[in-house]
Amino acid sequence: MKKKLVVIGAGMASGRLLEHLFETAPDAWQVTLFNGEPRGNYNRLMLSPVLSGDKTYDDIVTHDADWYAAHGVDCRFGQPVVRIDRAARVVHSNQSSAEYDALVIATGSAPFIIPVAGKDLPG
Ligand SMILES: Cc1cc2nc3c(=O)[nH]c(=O)nc-3n(C[C@H](O)[C@H](O)[C@H](O)COP(=O)(O)OP(=O)(O)OC[C@H]3O[C@@H](n4cnc5c(N)ncnc54)[C@H](O)[C@@H]3O)c2cc1C
Repeated sequence: MKKKLVVIGAGMASGRLLEHLFETAPDAWQVTLFNGEPRGNYNRLMLSPVLSGDKTYDDIVTHDADWYAAHGVDCRFGQPVVRIDRAARVVHSNQSSAEYDALVIATGSAPFIIPVAGKDLPG
């Protein structure tokens, strides 16, 4: 019986964590992965070349749907986690819930945007 691992955040840190986990303990954990963004992990360092048109989004995807499927990851993308019930060991997103034996919070950080005129313009 696999233990249940819930990971919050499908970014750079959790992507590497999952790679290492599946290399070293491939049959130990059933993973549920929540991400606020409606997609899995991509290389954020390469966002500038995507914006400038030198690369496409597909070029910078590090873990695609096939990778998640091959490792049996239950992907809950586009579902930000809104509550963690530590007593019941349950994570709640805006759409669903998942029980855990172990929980990883890898939600990164929100960049500070300086309060200059025009900061709220589209794009
Ligand atoms: C254009 C650009 C260039 C960069 N260049 C470099 C570089 O050259 N070198 C370098 O070292 N770093 C660089 N960085 C920074 C690097 O990308 C970050 O340090 C790194 O992505 C942080 O990894 P992380 O896993 O902690 O967070 P992230 O990669 O930000 O992932 C966090 C994830 O958690 C999700 N999340 C947040 N809250 C919730 C929630 N409540 N529920 C569910 N999901 C949630 C987010 O949607 C996100 O997908 C760059 C960043 C950008 C944007």
